[in-house]
Amino acid sequence: MSVRAHWRLPPAVLLAALAAACGLKAPVREFHWKAMGTECVFRAAGADAARIAEVSEAARSEVARVEGRLSLFDPASDVSRLNSAPRGEWLEVSADAESVLKTALEVAARSGGAFDPTVAPLMQVWGFRNPGRTNEPPASELAEAMCSVGYAGVRLDGAGVSLDLDRGSLDLGGVAKGYGVDAAFERIAAMGGTDYMVDIGGNMRCAGRGMRPGGWVVGVRNPFDRDDVLGTVVLTGGEAVATSGNYERFVVLSGVRYAHIIDPRTGRPVRGMAGVTVLAPSACLADALSTALFVAGPEEGGKIIASFGGCEALFVRDELPMAVLATPGFAARFRPRGGLRLNITVLDQQPGPTAN
Ligand code: ADP
Ligand code: MG
Repeated sequence: MSVRAHWRLPPAVLLAALAAACGLKAPVREFHWKAMGTECVFRAAGADAARIAEVSEAARSEVARVEGRLSLFDPASDVSRLNSAPRGEWLEVSADAESVLKTALEVAARSGGAFDPTVAPLMQVWGFRNPGRTNEPPASELAEAMCSVGYAGVRLDGAGVSLDLDRGSLDLGGVAKGYGVDAAFERIAAMGGTDYMVDIGGNMRCAGRGMRPGGWVVGVRNPFDRDDVLGTVVLTGGEAVATSGNYERFVVLSGVRYAHIIDPRTGRPVRGMAGVTVLAPSACLADALSTALFVAGPEEGGKIIASFGGCEALFVRDELPMAVLATPGFAARFRPRGGLRLNITVLDQQPGPTAN
């Protein structure tokens, strides 16, 4: 059985086309390109063609700049420099790398290590970075990789970053796209943009209202059917949304499909979750939290997210009939698609004895 890495469409779908079909005013213009290993879209409502060409080019160049800093595959990036530096050595890094690491370490600490930016050796061992693997890794290899994982080995201060983790390395794949969205979002705001959306592979952040009076309408994809949405949420005031799914990228080892999100506490790819969508004040936080909550699951995840102001989550378990759970704030804002009978369990977010 060969190992395959599959790339699929982004998990969240903007319903702009639907709104346009309903005859709503202020056309949204779109600019598409590829970066950070996925599809990027810049959308602007009511802008003229020359203006959108200018701002979308600014968004594209900002995303390219961030990719150059954070990519695992670019030897000149801050991440690659840290990964190849002698362990424990302090390196000066860009403000981008510092900022994204700060969010990553905070989410790591507050999720009890469900999110961990040092997960790279486990990604390697499970064949996500090494296409030669065909079988589940033996316990000895897993144990060895786990010894090199632990966010406490990343140190950050005003002067730089050090990675003090024997044979460890960084992988910011769970947070970098969200940071790229924020960087482009802020650049367009500084250029005077007021009504636009930046989307990198389903990590989105919106300013203004799009075509609707209430805000930009974003669809949450049905993890079991790429052409379907479960429902919609309206985003306003610079809010962001991110989705982590088990259908996005995976490997097949000995006939078993493993999704690309790993539980650093067990060393194994997460089973049991199909998708997690997070609303947050920034795309970087939404991205990190969607990965963290995919690992933690609804019960623990609902409590983790309660400690982050302005953040809400929706969980879909990997089982049919579909089991959907949401924080009270997400449930209140979510509009299930017409014709879909969804039973949403609202999570109790009171910290329990097992919460962090
Ligand atoms: P996507 O990249 O498809 O948008 P995510 O944001 O959930 O999905 O990120 C998944 C990526 O995050 C993986 O490809 C890997 O690079 C990294 N990753 C996997 N497991 C973890 C984890 N537990 N903590 C932090 N990053 C992780
Ligand atoms: Mg993520």
